[in-house]
Amino acid sequence: MLRLLRPKTDLKTLITLLVIASIVITLANALYATWRVQRAVLINNSLEANRVYATKLASTTEIFFQQAQSQLAWSANAMSKGFSDTALLQREVERLRAQTNSFNSVAVVDARGVVLAVSPESLMLKGMRLHTNATRQALAARKPLISKPSLSATGNLIVLISWPITAANGDYLGYVGGTIYLKKHSVLNALLEEQFYRDGTRLFVTDEDNRVLYHQHDEVIGQMIEPLISPQLRAQQTSGYQQVVRDKQGVLLAGYAVVPIANWTIVALKPLPTTLAPLDDLLLQVLKHSVPFALLTLLFALLLARLIALPLWQLARKAGEMDVQGVSAEIESIRSWYFEALQIKRALLAGIGLLQDKIGRLRVEVQTDPMTQLFNRRGLNTVLEYFLATQQSFAVLALDIDHFKRVNDNFGHDTGDLVLKSVARQMEACSRKTDVICRNGGEEFLMILPGAAPDIALSIAERVRQHVAQQPLDRVGNITLSVGVAFWHPQKTTIERVFKQADEALYQAKNAGRNRVIMLESES
Ligand code: GH3
Ligand code: MG
Ligand code: MG
Repeated sequence: MLRLLRPKTDLKTLITLLVIASIVITLANALYATWRVQRAVLINNSLEANRVYATKLASTTEIFFQQAQSQLAWSANAMSKGFSDTALLQREVERLRAQTNSFNSVAVVDARGVVLAVSPESLMLKGMRLHTNATRQALAARKPLISKPSLSATGNLIVLISWPITAANGDYLGYVGGTIYLKKHSVLNALLEEQFYRDGTRLFVTDEDNRVLYHQHDEVIGQMIEPLISPQLRAQQTSGYQQVVRDKQGVLLAGYAVVPIANWTIVALKPLPTTLAPLDDLLLQVLKHSVPFALLTLLFALLLARLIALPLWQLARKAGEMDVQGVSAEIESIRSWYFEALQIKRALLAGIGLLQDKIGRLRVEVQTDPMTQLFNRRGLNTVLEYFLATQQSFAVLALDIDHFKRVNDNFGHDTGDLVLKSVARQMEACSRKTDVICRNGGEEFLMILPGAAPDIALSIAERVRQHVAQQPLDRVGNITLSVGVAFWHPQKTTIERVFKQADEALYQAKNAGRNRVIMLESES
């Protein structure tokens, strides 16, 4: 047998779920796309900003070095003419330091490395022979130089910018050099120490050996570090950007530029998390702006879901009541405003026509005795329910064929059947249109005569008895009936009791010799 499992959900819920799912997916998708795009934009902007910043600082630094060198060159030229004039040398170094503000200290050193003049004099280096790396580098090169970071005679970490002093005959006399202190306040700090650190950007200046010349934290200055910018990239482009990965800090967005004159690299770095910090806020903003619209869409979709589901839901509900009277009109009134609903509605209406036809036929079949075409007991009950409901009084005739067993015994069962059918037809012939005739089982019949008064009931009973008794049947000859009569009146007694009385009357008729009618007056 086909078992119809009742589904746990309905169309409206499904459409609603579908709508919610698509809204959530769309929203998530929008957020993801925004996240991807904005992330890329933030990263690129940060890289480019760092590159521009490094480039600007590099060009400022380059210009500074050029100016510093031209000042030193001018002085070197002046000093070469009076190299033995210590006072002149001293004046010149004082002027260089005071006027330009470029150097932390300025000194004139002869070819052996002995200091001839120094400013500030407080350094007490005059007359001393210098052995620092920077001095050695300058003396060995005998040309304009920007030294590597080096410890000075007084213990400061310095960079030395030197210019050779050459006599008119071309002899090398020594150099004039200005220092920049890397760890103390210097022109380098003044150049580089701009506002930037606030937004998390850090600045590194390194020389060609990747030694740190400038950083906001002094302790790093002078130390060699792992190259921030890959040497290949740096060799290709004098400025650019790169993402740098460091174990501790994670990903850093680095922009860099080279200072050509000193071969220094200026690197501006910003950690990726700092760069991406505005992203969360941005997504929140997107969400804040999308949610009201999403809710509005949801509301609209819910209404639409209801509108779509309603006709189908109504049709489905009515589909369960197709055997109910008047359901066609209810289905007719369902507003099926789109194709599928309309088709289903039409199919239901067509189906109901067929079904009710069939039910009607079934009902007749169920209530009819197949052999005699009279009502059976179930058919009779339907009629009785109607009489009870309408309080319609009636007479009951209980009829039984006399000695029917003998008919069967003598002529066979089939003949017995023919007799039953013949008696049924005779009862019909003798009754009124409104009378109800029922085969009660076997060779027993019941006749219900609505509204019949005792004399009418009696005369009909007598008529049936006589009719049967006088009508000889093929082969069988004459047969007789015994009849018991009783009356039902709504206010007086129950239907069950009246049927018992009719039975009782029938029993009496049998006992009194058969082929007769006995009526029991209803007790009052
Ligand atoms: P009486 O009523 O006069 O006392 O005698 P009876 O022989 O008619 O009594 P009983 O009620 O004992 O017998 C009824 C018989 O009717 C018994 C049964 O074989 C027969 N019968 C019942 N239904 C049918 C049927 O559908 N067809 C035929 N041919 N016989 C049936
Ligand atoms: Mg009987
Ligand atoms: Mg009988």
